[in-house]
Amino acid sequence: MADGLPTVTFQDCPHKDWTFSRQMAWSMGYNEALAKCADARRAELTFAAFRLANVSRCLKWHPAGIESWSPSDWLTAVTGELGELASLLKMRNRERDGLPGNKFSPSDKQVADELADVLTYLDLLAATLGVDLGSAAVEKFNEVSARVGFPDRIELAPSSTKP
Ligand SMILES: [Mg+2]
Repeated sequence: MADGLPTVTFQDCPHKDWTFSRQMAWSMGYNEALAKCADARRAELTFAAFRLANVSRCLKWHPAGIESWSPSDWLTAVTGELGELASLLKMRNRERDGLPGNKFSPSDKQVADELADVLTYLDLLAATLGVDLGSAAVEKFNEVSARVGFPDRIELAPSSTKP
């Protein structure tokens, strides 16, 4: 390369087009970058994998099946978690504006936890409705991009969003 930095592409990486930035590979070294890629592979999460674990765990709370709660029951759970998230962000707004009333200062971990709770219940709602959330997200993303004339598209192998 003209700037002397190596181009590092990891053929064995699950992300077929994933190329570490040359600066990153240069600064951390090839072996460390490869290890980071392996960590990413272990940590890779798909909608299907999440659904499997989520429903499996949920059946311990709902042994009669996730359908023992109606979609509106699950939606109530989703909105409950959204409310918890909103409460944390409301506290952050108070902090931003120097207003009193907070019992604690919401941490990044607390905010991330509530986002995760929203995702967990949203996935259970989708499961109850028979919706493949990954496929639905990709399809809708591409529909909106096409409608507004943006070039952004998500293209996945047909099996990559299937349970
Ligand atoms: Mg929560």
